[in-house]
Amino acid sequence: MLKYYNFDIVFQEIPDEVTLAVNITNCPHHCPGCHSPHLHENVGFALDETEIDQLLSKYGKQITCFCFMGGDANPQEVSRLADYLHKNTNLKVAWYSGNTQLPDTFSRFDYVKVGPYLADRGGLNSRETNQRLYRNQNGQPFDLTHRFWKSIAN
Ligand code: SF4
Repeated sequence: MLKYYNFDIVFQEIPDEVTLAVNITNCPHHCPGCHSPHLHENVGFALDETEIDQLLSKYGKQITCFCFMGGDANPQEVSRLADYLHKNTNLKVAWYSGNTQLPDTFSRFDYVKVGPYLADRGGLNSRETNQRLYRNQNGQPFDLTHRFWKSIAN
């Protein structure tokens, strides 16, 4: 079962979407310089269909996208809940993964970010970043990472 620490409604994590970003715990990556060490332990609230329904009953009308921030310790569950969201809502579904490769289940998401955090390369808003955000375009990954750089330039 996935657990989450907290959530927020955010505007920059996924371009052109208003996103409910849910911060999932039990992160297996332990990147040096991690910006969210509180997400390393397996703690927090259970994230299942009932919890998703409760979150969406409060915030569903304010958002266009639901994003799993993490979940790499249990990728099957992330994909299963992505299916639940697609079946029961009109929301886009995104996954911020710390893995280096796109998941086999990429086609079940609208957006996937990959890449661990490397302090000397920076996050998505750094032109030197190792991270990439892809949109699912007819089943193929389309790299949107440059959108983060434009927003900095503007
Ligand atoms: S993937 Fe994110 S939360 Fe996990 S260790 Fe790396 S920076 Fe921290």
